[in-house]
Amino acid sequence: MAQTIFERIIQREIPATIEYEDDEIIAIRDIAPSAQVHVLIIPKRVIASVDAVTGPDAELIGKVFIVARDLARKFGIDASGYRVVTNTNADAGQTVPHIHFHLLGGEPLGRMNSGTERSHTAPKSGIVRDAGLIVACALGLAITFNAMNPKSIPWIKKDYERITLDSSEINKYLAPTPQTPTTAPAQTLPSAEQTAPATTQPVGQTPQPAQQVQQSTPEQPKFVPAPGIVREITYAQFKAFLAAGPYYLIDARGAEKYAEGHIANAVNFYGGEAEARIPDMLQSVPKDRVILIYCDGGECELSHHVADVLKRFAYGPIFIYTGGWAEWTTKK
Ligand code: 5GP
Repeated sequence: MAQTIFERIIQREIPATIEYEDDEIIAIRDIAPSAQVHVLIIPKRVIASVDAVTGPDAELIGKVFIVARDLARKFGIDASGYRVVTNTNADAGQTVPHIHFHLLGGEPLGRMNSGTERSHTAPKSGIVRDAGLIVACALGLAITFNAMNPKSIPWIKKDYERITLDSSEINKYLAPTPQTPTTAPAQTLPSAEQTAPATTQPVGQTPQPAQQVQQSTPEQPKFVPAPGIVREITYAQFKAFLAAGPYYLIDARGAEKYAEGHIANAVNFYGGEAEARIPDMLQSVPKDRVILIYCDGGECELSHHVADVLKRFAYGPIFIYTGGWAEWTTKK
């Protein structure tokens, strides 16, 4: 069989904007987008369409929905809503005979059949039932796949230990600061660089080395490495850590949000890809300073994804600024 356009993209014979790739799946931007976000999620295994799916493909197809979910988060359309659809054969308008799933979002998508000229005659209840069945099957497959996958992504928040940092404990994690007496609150020590509201720092820029400590008196608070410790911190505590240094600051949001703006000196490790980025993290994240992580704030769990991975490799202490980007930008 002649190669489809997608096989040629997978083999890098034709360029495409790749949004995700692993051994089994590639996701690319659609060349003719039908919505603000239009990504094609393509299993690499050659399967012509849903009609050609067989039992052994179940896990792979389930994984497509995990990838779809993560991409939706990456593009920030998870809350606003999105659609995952696949066309099968001529009546559905399938143009490439290699199974693929359209992830659409970033704007109101209208009803399922909007954009088609024909009027359907199937009773509404039938459509709803079929759609429900498809979603239920897909979810079932996705959940099964995730449960069986050693790199599974936690589904619910309570998987994470959520311990807040007791303010009376903070000094033991703060680095010594040279110019200030022990009695001064750490919040009063910000350096211009470390507290600047950097919303324009370009992606990929490495953080400035944290403020180097010249010397300390015995009374000053000492940095205590505490591998495995993960604590949630408030805005005031976060500022205290920024002021005291040295620290390593991680922005766990998606690359696009990070590119739009981030806290000064933050390095981007997207929480949704924390497992996949372990080698990068092991190379970049130092073990001799506190690690600060933030994401969007509110219900965002991306920081916890990153913390969970780092904790496993004996990093710590790790502090999650729960107010995150949302709070940070309102405080500025
Ligand atoms: P289908 O119509 O088969 O459901 O979807 C095929 C999709 O592939 C279409 O949305 C079309 O725009 C997209 N497409 C076709 N050729 C290319 C290409 O060369 N590159 C990319 N990125 N997308 C393509």
